[in-house]
Amino acid sequence: MDTSHQKYAIIVAGGSGARMGYAVPKQFLLLAGKPLLMHTLIRFREAISELQLIVVLPFDHIETWQRLCSEHRFIIPHQIVAGGKERFFSVRNGLEKITAAGWVAVHDGVRPLVSAKLIQMAFEAAARDGSAIPVITPTESLRQITGNGSHSVNRTEHRLVQTPQVFDAQRLAEAYRQPFRTDFTDDATVWEAANNKVHLIEGELNNIKITRPFDLLLAEQYLHYESEES
Ligand code: C5P
Repeated sequence: MDTSHQKYAIIVAGGSGARMGYAVPKQFLLLAGKPLLMHTLIRFREAISELQLIVVLPFDHIETWQRLCSEHRFIIPHQIVAGGKERFFSVRNGLEKITAAGWVAVHDGVRPLVSAKLIQMAFEAAARDGSAIPVITPTESLRQITGNGSHSVNRTEHRLVQTPQVFDAQRLAEAYRQPFRTDFTDDATVWEAANNKVHLIEGELNNIKITRPFDLLLAEQYLHYESEES
């Protein structure tokens, strides 16, 4: 791996989390006594100590986050950036903070269970192949909804896409100069639309995106299991 390059992580937590149905954004909900987003930052810090962390937050919640950091004595250094209307604009705002050459991981702040191993593997794979996108194979059967019903699709030909997704930072910033499209739901899609090649790596079942209240319950259980295993 090229060690002359700086490593960055943009942790996007700029959404308001309407699907959770809580007043507080889901990235601030308590998980094992700590705001969810803190777990995510700790995982990245533990994976690669020299990583520069950029955290994208909703503009209106930056003060809340700063208050939470002082309440929880959270001292992991990180740069704070205001988010945009869509995830795409939040990532773009984060990328603007990167001025030197390097590798960047873009990660959903609401995936607090990502392992250090996956983070390290993604950086290593990107240095080798140019990009690294973690995916898992669906275990459910899949159907495509059509205009007049639905039809089954072969699940072995499909993958569920996770983060962290790692890229060359300057090339990703270039890709993010494209105009926004509604199908830009992750970084690989933006990267590919700018004619770059997507390289898949194996993701993790535990790397869930906290989206609904049930996910928070699962995450609590998983952290409990992890602490008993160690
Ligand atoms: O909405 P979705 O679940 O796809 O969000 C994935 C991640 O992107 C979340 O961590 C969310 O906070 C972040 N996001 C963002 N800016 C937005 C919308 C979502 O940073 N405008």
